[in-house]
Amino acid sequence: MICPYCRHEDIRVVDSRDSGDEIRRRRECSVCLRRFTTYERVQTRIFQVVKKDQRREELNTQKLLGSLFNACAKRPLPVKAVEKISKEIETEIMNSGRSEISSKIIGDMVMDHLRKLDRVAYIRYASVYRSFQDIETFKNEIDALLDPQPVDPEMENQLSFLPDTSLGKKGNRRRGRPRKESIPAS
Ligand SMILES: [Zn+2]
Repeated sequence: MICPYCRHEDIRVVDSRDSGDEIRRRRECSVCLRRFTTYERVQTRIFQVVKKDQRREELNTQKLLGSLFNACAKRPLPVKAVEKISKEIETEIMNSGRSEISSKIIGDMVMDHLRKLDRVAYIRYASVYRSFQDIETFKNEIDALLDPQPVDPEMENQLSFLPDTSLGKKGNRRRGRPRKESIPAS
């Protein structure tokens, strides 16, 4: 096992608790002295992760947790919140009823969870794992996050009940302008 923070392999167990269906171990890195938790559970099914190049690899929950900790490094987030996400994703995968799952789907699950937890962690993760195509895409993601009114179905329903004067004006102005400019001068 390697330290999720500094990647060294010298890890010692400082605490161990058996809850019946899993053993929780508190571990400490001998190099950076940071602590993290591992869970040992009986695995009834082996899950294969299908990588981008179609190679298969056994699902590694430590790697998942490590990538979450990397994204959340130095953020004001309790370790427990990060561990909770990891376990939730693990459960989602287990409950998916599949025997293999693409690394992209796991990445999307991580992004969904991080988006709700911490914007900086989300952007960090997204920039590494989704590898933004260009700076414009990256900017759009950030703009979407900073938008004070996230569009969810409930919000949209509420908006449709508003008098359409303000909304209509705005919409017309936006749509009208480029059309005028695109007419070639003859
Ligand atoms: Zn370390």
